[in-house]
Amino acid sequence: MPTLVMKFGGTSVANIDRIHRAAKRVAVEVAKGYDVIVIVSAMSGKTNELVGWVNETSPLYDAREYDAVVASGENVTAGLMALRLQEMDIPARSWQGWQVPVLTTSAHSSARIEDIPSENITRKFGEGMKVAVVAGFQGLSPEGRITTLGRGGSDTTAVAFAAAFGAERCDIYTDVDGVYTTDPRICDKARKLDKIAFEEMLELASLGAKVLQTRSVELAMRYKVRLRVLSSFEEQSDEAGTLVCDEEEIMENNVVSGVAYSRDEAKMTLISVADRPGIAGKIFVPLAEAGVNVDMIVQNISEDGRTDMTFSCPVDQVIRAKKALEEAHARGDINFSELVTDDGVCKVSVVGIGMRSHTGVAAKMFEALAAEGVNIKVISTSEIKVSVLIDRKYMELAVQALHDAFELEKVA
Ligand code: ASP
Ligand code: MG
Repeated sequence: MPTLVMKFGGTSVANIDRIHRAAKRVAVEVAKGYDVIVIVSAMSGKTNELVGWVNETSPLYDAREYDAVVASGENVTAGLMALRLQEMDIPARSWQGWQVPVLTTSAHSSARIEDIPSENITRKFGEGMKVAVVAGFQGLSPEGRITTLGRGGSDTTAVAFAAAFGAERCDIYTDVDGVYTTDPRICDKARKLDKIAFEEMLELASLGAKVLQTRSVELAMRYKVRLRVLSSFEEQSDEAGTLVCDEEEIMENNVVSGVAYSRDEAKMTLISVADRPGIAGKIFVPLAEAGVNVDMIVQNISEDGRTDMTFSCPVDQVIRAKKALEEAHARGDINFSELVTDDGVCKVSVVGIGMRSHTGVAAKMFEALAAEGVNIKVISTSEIKVSVLIDRKYMELAVQALHDAFELEKVA
């Protein structure tokens, strides 16, 4: 039997009625002859509540117990989904991560999946089970403890199962009907894409598009898992949603496929640091050790052996970053005259594999922003994206202007 993985996010299993609706979708695929692996999230809001309870009980919590608590939301929905399917006379049972087992590293709250031995579930399919309902987001460490994969991690569970079982496809059911050229809440011209290449989706996810966890796209790209993002709130055909696939499968392509944004960024500048070999390491090692996710980095031209170093990071990491840099300054590891923070910036990016073969994308982007009077503070580029840091208050305007400039409402 061909295998299909179907993942239902938190809003798709938010209450008993929605679980019922999701189960009906599963029944449709079972009727087509698939062995189905269903991956469920916790009911929407549940994981936040559990995280809140942990923080309230123990602010400097033991990460192993954090995982034991926050993994529980998925246990509930897995059991309920299996019960619902049984009520529909579909042979189904639930599996918690450790029962499969989903073997992970021991990095609690951000564990990585190392292996998913398929024997247990395969044997059950052989015995007539039609649906394996698996609690997403969780696994088992080598020490025998429950782990979780990081927020949004059940997407990654789903892709990992699709890879491990050689599934025909991995369908991600969510509350939007696919991947859009940009966020439709910001830009009403946003258009749903029928297909998007793995690499573009990876950039969009890591640049702030919330539809898929970045790790899940990385895995899908590595194992060539065809991923489909679609809504659990609409009747679905086989062509519904957006297919995330190999770029060879995409015939026509806009040069730019999407505009992504990340609202809450900060820019920090160390003024007048000594410009000598090793100084960048002395700045960024303590930041990394403090868990600061540094994104863009710019170093100015040196004058009289001194330079300014600017970087960006998420706004909620500014306090940690400041502390790490001030401590390094106090130790004498680095020496700067001032640390300037701008916590009112956002990042806006344009993404597209077409950029590899087309020039002028950055120029067009800068012109479009200039026409709206938006000042660019930092620029960074890769092979398939251009990102700028701008004042947060211009974010919506910038997204709309770029969507217009690259005519993303039109199909290539
Ligand atoms: N329930 C987890 C979260 O809210 C995992 C997931 O839904 O993907 O982050
Ligand atoms: Mg999610």
